[in-house]
Amino acid sequence: MASPLTHIAVGYVLFRIANQYFTELTGTVKRLILICGALGAATVVDMDFVLGMLHHDLAGYHNQQSHSLCAAVVVGIGVGVLGRLLTGHRMRRWLTLGLVATLSHILIDFLTIGRGVQLLWPLTEARFTSPIPLFYGLRWSEGVWSSSHLLTLANEGPIIAALLWLTQQKLSRHAVEHIGEG
Ligand SMILES: [Zn+2]
Repeated sequence: MASPLTHIAVGYVLFRIANQYFTELTGTVKRLILICGALGAATVVDMDFVLGMLHHDLAGYHNQQSHSLCAAVVVGIGVGVLGRLLTGHRMRRWLTLGLVATLSHILIDFLTIGRGVQLLWPLTEARFTSPIPLFYGLRWSEGVWSSSHLLTLANEGPIIAALLWLTQQKLSRHAVEHIGEG
């Protein structure tokens, strides 16, 4: 699995992009719901980690069926219904945000060195992993103070920084074009 930092950063980027589309959503509370929806959907499938910790069996509980296309659809529908109920905003947009954010998580874990993800569960429990990994991944099994976490940070830090910088550049340009049109 990649570290939570990358999943949170991608969730934040999706929030910034979604901000452009949820234009009817005004007020601090509704903005908070939007950022919670994006960050929540980008990270929620790793909550099986808690079950693994409670049962002292991380590998047995974490990154199982939760990291599948089927689970992404379930999370997407959940975010769609909740978002609609809490804000009255179009369910289709919330559903899309939930689905894209969850798929981003599964894609990142697919691109991480490790045992891969059960992408097509329940059709098959086979695990799929990218032949060209992008992320070194976080090795919880090596303990909290393992020096391998420095490698994780050295790998993910520049990717996160580049992603945030690109998003900022793109959105700034979009805003300038918008003012220019107005
Ligand atoms: Zn994960």
